[in-house]
Amino acid sequence: MRWTKTFIPTLKEVPADAEIPSHQWMLRAGLIRQLMAGAYTYLPLGWKALRKAEAIVREEMEAAGAIELHMPALQPIELFERTGRREAFGNVLFHWEQKRGGSKVHFALGPTHEEVVTEIVAKHISSYRQLPLTLFQIQTKFRNEERPRFGVLRTSEFLMKDAYSFHVNLESLNETYQAMYRAYCRVFARSGLDFLPVEAESGPIGGDASHEFMTPSKNGEDRIVRCPKCSYAANLERADTGRKPPSRAVASNAAALTKVDTPKVTSIEQVSKLLKCRPDQMIKTLIYTADDQPIAVLIRGDHDANEAKIRRAIGAKSLEMADEATILKVTGAPVGFAGPVGIKCDVIADHDIPLIANAITGANAADAHFTGVTLGRDYLLTTTHDLRMAGASDPCPKCDGTLELVHGIEVGHVFKLGTKYTVSLDANFLDEKEQRHPIIMGCYGIGVNRIIAALAETKHDANGLIWPLSVAPYEVIVIPLQEEPAVVQTAEPIYSQLQQSHVDVLLDDRAQRAGVKFKDADLIGFPLRVVIGGKGLQEGVVELKWRDQPAPTKVPVADAVSTVLKQLAERRAQELTKVPA
Ligand code: ATP
Ligand code: MG
Repeated sequence: MRWTKTFIPTLKEVPADAEIPSHQWMLRAGLIRQLMAGAYTYLPLGWKALRKAEAIVREEMEAAGAIELHMPALQPIELFERTGRREAFGNVLFHWEQKRGGSKVHFALGPTHEEVVTEIVAKHISSYRQLPLTLFQIQTKFRNEERPRFGVLRTSEFLMKDAYSFHVNLESLNETYQAMYRAYCRVFARSGLDFLPVEAESGPIGGDASHEFMTPSKNGEDRIVRCPKCSYAANLERADTGRKPPSRAVASNAAALTKVDTPKVTSIEQVSKLLKCRPDQMIKTLIYTADDQPIAVLIRGDHDANEAKIRRAIGAKSLEMADEATILKVTGAPVGFAGPVGIKCDVIADHDIPLIANAITGANAADAHFTGVTLGRDYLLTTTHDLRMAGASDPCPKCDGTLELVHGIEVGHVFKLGTKYTVSLDANFLDEKEQRHPIIMGCYGIGVNRIIAALAETKHDANGLIWPLSVAPYEVIVIPLQEEPAVVQTAEPIYSQLQQSHVDVLLDDRAQRAGVKFKDADLIGFPLRVVIGGKGLQEGVVELKWRDQPAPTKVPVADAVSTVLKQLAERRAQELTKVPA
């Protein structure tokens, strides 16, 4: 391709509304343009990179045994009503009623395709002999994100690879899950991304049933804990702490239990200000309704409760914050003054609670708190649990290391779904004994746009983007420095011979100064630059420079094409060494 024949609107200035590097560089390098919040045009360079990422995803899905199909984005709302996801998605689901003929049709735009794919399988699969089956597509998804932001990292319309697997038993599901997990590692490694598979909330199957693939990045919206000593990594909702029930119970220097007035002061922050104490000296008492029963959960004042852990600890199917009436009933006080002393419901506590000496808690009376609250004297616990969000400096649950907290961009997610969709949409199979069972499912998503955005976010320097060969918009840029015949007559055959050798090459044939061409080449980040002209050409050499190497090398004009081909082959091989088997 010739620069003058394509469309590469690069920008000199950093766009004012782009907050993070990937967004800034993708705009400046002429990869994307915003149409409105959450909706972007992929310009030719951005589209090329995206298509290359898509091709890698497709190859790896097929290698893992998944079969491609294509389902409509337009879906009937009834399907979402049958699975309960109309309610679960809420405002995130795009849907509307529209006149068609004499009646009205209620449409939705697919945020994912569990319903559509399960409905197809329900209609056409009925025997164990037809399973397992894994179907995938690469297609536009629609989600009315509350806050579309950070360029194409979070948009309302985005390209997702979504795969769905169907099984007769958990063993078969586990096999496909492992194959998908390996395929994901290969996809992200081939795309040149740094990534970390992390344990995620596992849903109905429990156990090790869900992993997210995260690119560590300080601007990532997800928080992950990982252990630098072992391989443990989990997202914050899922992460265990290595804390154990402490052996110590009652503080030896227990102060007297004292009721203090705290009129209208309810939050941890307000109480700590008024009573001049630190949040870690306080016990937060959260009242939940778990399967219709009230329960009080004790968490240290500076910690955050983890509802998934609470639900698991008490074995509840449903868990929600209690309403005001329930709180009044069990504490005898309005919201904000709950405490464990004399509370009229079951109490469970986090492992850190017994370690708080002379704690400060709500007094279960309006406008009052207790100080000097002491376990064993003022309230009792039979045991403690891991009920809070993990954090930096917590012990690792798997080894004697210490956890660290990092931010990440979620680029993919694999999930053992179970029978949620097959039960609600009647997708069953008959086993060898003609017994009917719901089909067991797995689902697997990759944000294709996020592969590109996460690369831009993590692979750049002060001059612009740095692409791996595998997804670079062009692998090589050929830059003639002048428009003189000698320069053009050298550059043109190098360009066309590279093209004939199937190199994805761009010729910068613009009538521009060398400085402008170099700046743009660095900004866009083509992996290899071939510069022709000036003093070099008089000496009979051209300059080759890799975007990620500091200095150029000189090669005789006659060897230019063969050297480029050789170096590209070496670089491709080098990139592949990072890809797991
Ligand atoms: P997030 O937590 O970031 O909102 P999610 O967990 O809702 O994502 P999934 O339903 O697991 O997303 O979708 C599969 C993949 O699609 C994600 O791993 C992510 O890479 C991508 N993705 C999800 N939402 C968006 C979005 N709004 N814009 C771009 N990519 C997205
Ligand atoms: Mg996800």
